[in-house]
Amino acid sequence: MYAEAILSAFSQRYAGARDKFISAVETSSIVERINNIAHPLRGPKNERLFCDIAWAGNPRSRNVLVLVSGVHGVEGGVGSAIQSDFVGRHRRLPADVCVVMVHALNPWGFACASRNDHEGIDINRNFVNFADTQPDSTEAVAIWKQLIKQPATLESVAEQREQFDKLSQGQYSDAGALYFGGKAISWSRQIIEDLVAQLKPEKRQKVVIIDIHSGLGPYGYGELISDHPDGSAGQQMARALFGATVAEPALGTSVSGEKYGLHDYFWHKQGDNVCFLTLEFGTFGSQQMLNVLFADQQLQQSGKVDWSEQKTLDIKHAMQDFFCPDETQWQELVLFRGRQVIEMALEGLTAHENGS
Ligand SMILES: [Zn+2]
Repeated sequence: MYAEAILSAFSQRYAGARDKFISAVETSSIVERINNIAHPLRGPKNERLFCDIAWAGNPRSRNVLVLVSGVHGVEGGVGSAIQSDFVGRHRRLPADVCVVMVHALNPWGFACASRNDHEGIDINRNFVNFADTQPDSTEAVAIWKQLIKQPATLESVAEQREQFDKLSQGQYSDAGALYFGGKAISWSRQIIEDLVAQLKPEKRQKVVIIDIHSGLGPYGYGELISDHPDGSAGQQMARALFGATVAEPALGTSVSGEKYGLHDYFWHKQGDNVCFLTLEFGTFGSQQMLNVLFADQQLQQSGKVDWSEQKTLDIKHAMQDFFCPDETQWQELVLFRGRQVIEMALEGLTAHENGS
């Protein structure tokens, strides 16, 4: 069992999570630099919003581990806790490895307890090439329209894997519906593009990205999801690093289905030395997830999110309680798995080329 002091790395709310991360960074002996990128908008309490990028270890190291939190705003509490815990308990890093922590990639969504960003964009469907024709959204939007007419059908959508996968694969036509991938590069995606330009994966030996999410799968279990194509170098690397624990949507072995515009795809393009995994922590199941997402989406669509209203607070608290449960046993499972995955990644990054 972890002590309360360790579990205090968790905060469901953006401001609290950021305070914990920044204070861990400030007292850390491994963080070399931090870049605070200000968001154009403010949070519901008029607080300033940032995506903070902290570099631990020598930034010129040949091997890099990137830990990302808050792609889906409200899920940020989970990744933030893992990042703060990591910074707080390491006094040194293995030679030739640096760890880059991207804290709250979508700070507006985190602060406003929403999955999407301020433009209604699901960042994890936004990494398509906008010069191309986007995938056909007809079916996904039709399912959404049916849900609005008849919210009771949420239950059958959550239960039928095929329908749920269809709804959540991403759509590019309706900014008011869930899983909207956007019409252009989002604020958050631009941060990733700038980071990649700075990091220069082609000049590194190995780059591993762990993108931390929550909401899918069994309570407290952290599934490592690889969307690398079957037979690719990335898939080989994922399996070499994490063994049988790697789940692959393309092979039907994951809680997640195949999707458009994933954050993964942008990193996959950076080279064969890059391995991207989503670390997805389960909470209370798909049915309840759709319930809270649906209520929040309806609230946003109403155009009047009034933070002084009890109804708003109820919907937002339900989102926070679903995506980052304030429960000791859940937090313990998350920390255990988070630490395990990070240590495995660091070990893999420092292993000798031939055989060890
Ligand atoms: Zn997510």
